[in-house]
Amino acid sequence: MSEQHIAIYPGSFDPITLGHLNIIKRASHIFDRLIVCIMVNSEKHGLFPPEERAELVRRATERFPNVEVDCSHELLSEYARRKGAHVVVKGLRAMSDFEKEFQMAHINRRLNPDLDTMFLTSSEKYTFLSSSVVKELGSYGADLSEFVPREIIGDIERKIRERQAGLGRA
Ligand code: ADP
Repeated sequence: MSEQHIAIYPGSFDPITLGHLNIIKRASHIFDRLIVCIMVNSEKHGLFPPEERAELVRRATERFPNVEVDCSHELLSEYARRKGAHVVVKGLRAMSDFEKEFQMAHINRRLNPDLDTMFLTSSEKYTFLSSSVVKELGSYGADLSEFVPREIIGDIERKIRERQAGLGRA
């Protein structure tokens, strides 16, 4: 059997947006398997805890049979090695993303010479979109339907309301 081409799409996904989903859909057409991995950064406390973020990504990507969702505390270079993946997929929104991503791509290749980074340019519809923008808009009660997958809008609104009421601890 020929080797499967596996790619990792890493990020915070706090929460997943339509910009992320657009990259997932395109990358899933290029690779045999795409693993969307929530990279857990212990210094950063998000709106959602990592397992809940993963659950939202799972729900939003159910229709893509070759997409899996995972969480990891590992270094990306180690995680990719363990999964047998040779490609990291990244989305580029603007030049402002480029410098950091360029540096990360070099570091990852230094740590794991079998690992390449592939950049997909954001669809122009989503170049302005980030998880932070979604959280900011959500905190004002704005309509999120143009920014996040429809299946998860209720979860985001609920989490933001809990936060605002001082009940949620993410
Ligand atoms: P952010 O918190 O900035 O929204 P993440 O850390 O979750 O993003 O991002 C994971 C990956 O997805 C990164 O490669 C990032 O550049 C990419 N990405 C984020 N938003 C978009 C978008 N709107 N269009 C394309 N790629 C995106």
